[in-house]
Amino acid sequence: MSDLDLQAKLRHNALEFPWSEPPEQGHLRELADGLLWLRMPLPFGLDHINLYLLRHEHGWVVVDTGLNTDQSIAVWERVCSEVLQGEPVLAVIATHCHYDHTGMVVWLSDRFQCPVYMTFGEYSSILLPSAAVDEAPWQFRQFYQRAGLSTDEVDGLHAAVGSSMFKNEAPHSYRRLRDGDLLSIGKRRWRIVVGAGHSPEHACLYNEEDQLLISGDQVLPRITSSICITVTEPEANPLQEWLNSLKRLRSIPDTVLVLPAHELPFRGLHFRLQQLQQHHELHLDQLMSALESPQSVDQCRALLFPRVRNSFDRLMAIGETQAHLNFLMEEGSLQRELCDEVWRYSLKHSDAQAVTLAEDIHV
Ligand SMILES: [Zn+2]
Repeated sequence: MSDLDLQAKLRHNALEFPWSEPPEQGHLRELADGLLWLRMPLPFGLDHINLYLLRHEHGWVVVDTGLNTDQSIAVWERVCSEVLQGEPVLAVIATHCHYDHTGMVVWLSDRFQCPVYMTFGEYSSILLPSAAVDEAPWQFRQFYQRAGLSTDEVDGLHAAVGSSMFKNEAPHSYRRLRDGDLLSIGKRRWRIVVGAGHSPEHACLYNEEDQLLISGDQVLPRITSSICITVTEPEANPLQEWLNSLKRLRSIPDTVLVLPAHELPFRGLHFRLQQLQQHHELHLDQLMSALESPQSVDQCRALLFPRVRNSFDRLMAIGETQAHLNFLMEEGSLQRELCDEVWRYSLKHSDAQAVTLAEDIHV
């Protein structure tokens, strides 16, 4: 398929959105009997996260919680008094460890003294060292300097992740979710479907009877979930895990109503999975075309993501670019060399070894 064909296909909107508008920020909508959609505001360009409340006997189960901000606390206070009307939150489920999903887990769990359900990979990830500390660790500096950034630019990135909004707190205990687990909540049974790549062990909730999939950030209708390398594991290959997960999710029927953590609920799961795969294949092709001559990570970033509005955008774009480079490195398509403390990536030609030997002999 040519690039033009692919772009046209990616632009084509084959998804169906049963609700054209979301609930007002901070408010709820009933999607089905015993299933509420709470639109929680976020203070970013992406200005919301969708949270879901599932009716259980004499209370509610909450899926994802919002960022740890005064704004989120105000929304939850109002929801508790006006919507729950004295009924408790019985359990909190976090699809994955990112701040907008787990920021209020401890607040809710403490308020209702209720259990928190997560996968082991996501719970462990909350416990990882945070970059939100006063001094950037040497590993942080080295990672971004090797990506091709100046000292000032690295300082800018560190300031961007130093906000208190990005501090996560783990509950003192949790209940472990595993792929294939069945949760009975109210009249519905939800099967845990684990994906990876956006985060280590992301839990989706699938209800077969009513064809519902609470997809977290594993499947979003228009924006693509970040697949990011971070300082924590610079040599990881999350893009391979992500592409594997897209294939696994095809086992869920295309008829399902997808309830994502951002944007609007939609139908057209399989088409969206195909779009997401093509999106990353396009990025991989772009990199392969550009790497005849050696390039730094940030030079590759400028090719894939030419418009970054601020340091946080740049940090995410560098992480995503590095994920694509690591994928190509692992499949053996690229090589890299450390020149003046900056990685330079280039195509790995299969005859590179033979040329080197020939030159040796000639000399
Ligand atoms: Zn996420």
